[in-house]
Amino acid sequence: MRCPFCANEDTQVKDSRPTEDNSAIRRRRSCSGCGARFTTFERVQLRELTVLKTSGKKVPFERIKLCLLYTSDAADE
Ligand SMILES: [Zn+2]
Repeated sequence: MRCPFCANEDTQVKDSRPTEDNSAIRRRRSCSGCGARFTTFERVQLRELTVLKTSGKKVPFERIKLCLLYTSDAADE
């Protein structure tokens, strides 16, 4: 994986461990170019979810939209 700091392609995994709920793998990486350390997450990608809108149109599910919707609902109470 490319280093997000210097764009060097050669980064090494220093440590891999599951997250607390075992739904993802967290990897500590280090860049051999600039020495930066960063973390990546590996998650399961199921087939893309689609949302059927009231208009009958199917659109890709976007988690961020759902979060924003919940946030604005809560703010109205
Ligand atoms: Zn780097």
